[in-house]
Amino acid sequence: MKYIDEYRDEAAAQRFIQLIAATVTRPWTLMEICGGQTHTLIKFGIDRMLPEQVTLVHGPGCPVCVTPLEQIDRAIAIAQRPAVIFTSFGDMLRVPGSTTDLLSVKAGGGDVRMVYSPLDAVKLAQQHPDREVVFFAVGFETTAPANAAAVWQANHLGLKNFSILSSHVLVPPAMTAILGSPDNLVQGFLAAGHVCAVMGYWEYEPLAAEHRTPIVVTGFEPLDLLEGVYLTLKMLEEGRWGVENQYARAVTRSGNRPAQKLLGEVFQVCDRAWRGIGVIPASGLALRPQYAAFDAEERFAVTTITAPESPICIAGQIMQGLKKPHECSAFGGRCAPEHPLGAPMVSSEGACAAYYQYGRVLHAPA
Ligand code: SF4
Repeated sequence: MKYIDEYRDEAAAQRFIQLIAATVTRPWTLMEICGGQTHTLIKFGIDRMLPEQVTLVHGPGCPVCVTPLEQIDRAIAIAQRPAVIFTSFGDMLRVPGSTTDLLSVKAGGGDVRMVYSPLDAVKLAQQHPDREVVFFAVGFETTAPANAAAVWQANHLGLKNFSILSSHVLVPPAMTAILGSPDNLVQGFLAAGHVCAVMGYWEYEPLAAEHRTPIVVTGFEPLDLLEGVYLTLKMLEEGRWGVENQYARAVTRSGNRPAQKLLGEVFQVCDRAWRGIGVIPASGLALRPQYAAFDAEERFAVTTITAPESPICIAGQIMQGLKKPHECSAFGGRCAPEHPLGAPMVSSEGACAAYYQYGRVLHAPA
């Protein structure tokens, strides 16, 4: 298949492995930001093909994983109301809240629907003027423009029965927080190609300069990742930092300007809590005051709902590159895809799900 097979060519992969082996002279720790990249690395065994001096740790770029427990509880509280049609992408439905999940709310009679686009939720609001339609707007800069478009469209149509529960997060502030932590292990980043396709990579340049860290914008296929690893290691070995673009077939320095303009019209930057990590300043998106009528948190008065995180789940440490999934005492035992304790075991982009799915059980589960 074009644009797939050519990025999975085994001979080309072997050449990159040899190039990397010839480049590396000492230990380095790299973080891939996106959970989609994590799954490719683990699925194809790329982490095991690299020289043993190279450690890959897995970043916070899984939207389901970083959505705080209290936001799941707020979604559940809204979805349980009889007048509400609660809509979401499929991944969020099985994420456990404090006592239940959205799929169980649906099984109990709640009107919870999986949609493929936030614009589907806007259509539902048009079709059901007597119901309140809420969309669970989670994710990074990749999903935010479509959600901004949905709010813009609902406003344009004059819909009074549509709102979003926003839990949007931004990548650069999370990278800044990781690099600024006294426990940080990360020396170079593979940035998420799809986020940069929207936002460009200009905003990573000051970050790379301030922390003297190489950042390589990287795609999602095996050869993309191998090239991203190679370019990052080359900069590290040569004592260089800055931003390089491996994913030039999709990413430009300036990004998608119309999408950025729409984002800026509907959303503004806010402080945001990340699951297992805590509040990161200026790391989220909230609706601007002129779109406040579409804010489900205010409409349904759920802002007071809070929830303590699980004391067992170490997702926050995993997403900061401090631990790996198999180092969690619950991995594969008390926490498995059929009975998850934390979001990274549920999400198709979660690091724990990747380790479980591709057999990375390296110690006896508790
Ligand atoms: S294995 Fe489960 S409990 Fe442990 S970090 Fe992953 S999601 Fe959390």
